[in-house]
Formats: sequence, C-alpha cells, structure tokens
Amino acid sequence: MNEEHDDTERAGDSTTATMDGPAGTEALPNEETAADPPGPREDGEPSTFEELGLEPRLLEAVRRRGYERPTAIQRRAIPPALAGRDVLGSAQTGTGKTAAFTLPMLQRFSDDEHGTLRGLIVTPTRELARQVEDAVGEYGATMSIEPMVVHGGVPIGPQIEGLEWGCDVLVATPGRLLDHCRRGTVDLSEVQVLVLDEADRMLDMGFIDDVRKIVAQTPDDRQTLLFSATMPNAIKSLAHQIMEDRVEVEVGLEKAAEGIREVIHPVDRVAKHELLLHLLENGMEGQVLVFARTRDTTQYLSDYLERKGVSADALHGGRSQEQRQRSLQAFRDGETRALVATNVAARGLDIRGIRHVVNFDAPRDPRDYVHRVGRTARANETGDALILMAQHEWTYVRDIEKLTGEAIERRAVEGFEPDFTPPPPPELGDDDGEDERETSPLNRGRRRR
Ligand code: AMP
Repeated sequence: MNEEHDDTERAGDSTTATMDGPAGTEALPNEETAADPPGPREDGEPSTFEELGLEPRLLEAVRRRGYERPTAIQRRAIPPALAGRDVLGSAQTGTGKTAAFTLPMLQRFSDDEHGTLRGLIVTPTRELARQVEDAVGEYGATMSIEPMVVHGGVPIGPQIEGLEWGCDVLVATPGRLLDHCRRGTVDLSEVQVLVLDEADRMLDMGFIDDVRKIVAQTPDDRQTLLFSATMPNAIKSLAHQIMEDRVEVEVGLEKAAEGIREVIHPVDRVAKHELLLHLLENGMEGQVLVFARTRDTTQYLSDYLERKGVSADALHGGRSQEQRQRSLQAFRDGETRALVATNVAARGLDIRGIRHVVNFDAPRDPRDYVHRVGRTARANETGDALILMAQHEWTYVRDIEKLTGEAIERRAVEGFEPDFTPPPPPELGDDDGEDERETSPLNRGRRRR
C-alpha cells in the first residue's frame, strides 16, 4: 500500500497518530425517524427506544443525547442484539450504528459488576476508536460503565497501567491490541460481546489477519456484532466463519445522499490549486473539507491557502498527534475554514456543519469517494461534493460513477476551462457494476440519469 496514500494506522507504525475530539453529539434528524408517526410502524419495526426493549438507564442516556427516535439501523439491529443474536450490519458511519451496537452491549453489562473486560470494539482507525470510546462513555455514564481506548501512535505504558486497573469495554485498533495480547497486558478470555466496526475498512488496510487473531483470543460463545459499509466476499466469509446464528440487517444513507449535490469541475492539473482558491473566494460558503491524495499535497495546499488569506490546516499522518488533535479541534470549533486532509479523514469523523467536500484529487478507490462525500450533508443538512478532475483522473471518476450508478454533472468553471475535453459519463446499464451498486450506501434512493 502506498505510504503516501494510506494515512491510517498499521501495526507497529508509530509515525501515524490519532487525534482527539468530542464524539459528535448532535442529533441526527434522520428523515425516516423524524417523519415516523408515534406508535408501531406498519412494517412491524419498533418506532421508539422504549419499544426496542432498552432498560431505563439507557433510555435516559439516549434522552440525554437528544435522540427522539431510533434510526433504521438501531430499529433493526438492537432487538436481535438484545436477544443475544450475532448481527451482521451493512451500515456506515452517519447511520447511528455506534448506538446500535453500544446500547445492547451495555444492557448486557448492566449488572453493576465492573472491572472485567466484557466488551471489545475493534475499529480500523485511531480517530474512529476515540470517537467510539467517547460515545460508549456517554451512553454508559448512567450505569457507571467506563470504556478504555488503546491505539498506536502513543506510548504503550499508560495503556498497560490502565488495562491493569481493569475496564468493562475496550475500544481498540487491531495493531496495538495485538501488541497488548502478545505482551500479555490484555486478557480477552472474558469477552462476551465482540464488535468489529468498519470491517471492510479493516480489510482494505490489511488488518484482516490481525482481526482473525484477535477473534481467536475471545471465547467461542461470545456474541459478535459486525458492521461494514460494503460487503465484499472476504467480509462475508469472515462473518460466516466467526458468527453463528446471525441476523443480517442493512440500511443505506438515503438521506445523506439526497442532500448531497455532486459536481465535477474538469480542470488542468496545474491550475487545480488556483481553482480551489477561486472557489473558496467566490461563492463557496462555510467550512470546507478538502481531500488530497498525498501528505505532501495536503501540506502544500494548506500552506498555499493560508498564504492567500484562507484559514487552513492540514490533517495527515505525517503530523504529530498533538498537531492533529489541535487541527481537528480547531476545525470542529469553526476556527479553521478549510481542513485539507488525506484519506485519514474520509471515514468515521462526525463533524457537523461541513458544507463542502472538495476532492482535490479524485480518489483511486471509488469507495473512498462515497466515504469522503459522506462527511457533508450529515444530520439532514445539504452539502456539496466537488471533484476537481484533471485529465489523468477521468478513469477514477468513471469508477465512481459506476459504483454509485449515478452520472455526475461535468461543469467547467469560467476562467478555468481545461485544455482537454472531459469524457462523457460511462454507460450505466443494468449489468454494469451491478454488484457494487447493490452494496453502495449512496446508491439507494437515487435515480440513474
Ligand atoms: P454514527 O453513525 O454512530 O456515527 O452516528 C452519526 C450521528 O448520528 C452521531 O452524531 C450520533 O450522535 C447521531 N445519532 C445516533 N443515533 C441517533 C438517533 N436515534 N437520533 C438522532 N441522532 C442520532
């Protein structure tokens, strides 16, 4: 995997680091939930948290978070999870899946016996690990359940001390967790509930063997909850091997997709940075998350924008953990207008108010596009997703369109018309990329042009 390209944690890599930041606490007025009338839904799904069978302390925790009704993944995943079944969930961040696996887990641990590691949540990135830990801490506060997080990029000593004290729920990235397993500083033999979050991302990052090793250290009679945005065969077969008696639940991101306006600006490669500045200075309002492929480009762009008077910051794995934490916090606080990031920020981060996602470089893996643009139009808002497409990038764009089944409008910006003629969208026939579209979270509820 290209080091410049891949900016997420790998086992033993101490150059990348995670950043802190409050988990998004803002409620997600999901269209379905907001529009649901009170009482049982016609499809038989529970429509309130009470009907899901959650105990009073968790209902209180949910109320404190400001959630009025369960989201689709919560309605579908919580009842079987509460019943002790294994759950295979197709859902990505933004659907409310963290609560979908955390609430039933906490209910199982509500017997007030604390200090034994009974819940394990494995996530691909440090950012997501910390965000999930924050969420577990909030949901668990009413029952004194305290989570702990372990990930790479920080000294292992304090983690070892923390683990010696004991915790009920551990959130971990695979590399550092295995490190602890090897040192004997963590004991997974009492784990009752195992959550694998963003499993497809763990696969992409080459963690799947680590995940298997982790699973092997947990008891066979554990409950397993596996969530994945897409379901490639490797994940299906993993699920098949490690989950018994599983229930499959699936939701898309219909609302987010509807709220996203997508456009491609064809532009000559050398003029991309000027076009970005032009857009920021002309009509683009609010905060902007810019994705670039390499750390160097990310840093260069952020410096360039700063020099031109746009408050900007860079987020990539080459920066220290403190720098990354500061950058992310400043962006969350609205102090920075443009955050220029590598794919490290493509998944999981829940930042409210991002109005625009700019793909300065078209991602090479079309699934990254789906995740990148999912950073905008969250919580019922609308947002714009742009691709600044140079001539050499049209094949990546074509792959994105095939994956989502959606032709994206090509529109050159006046003064930045490219020297090349942008190719038309691919034929989006019925058997073209059908498998991927089936699993694309942006696919559902969209019309093909
Ligand atoms: P997640 O997919 O777990 O990252 O959640 C995305 C966002 O939705 C987070 O900001 C959650 O706080 C929020 N959220 C989760 N469940 C609900 C709910 N039932 N109602 C409103 N917002 C929610």
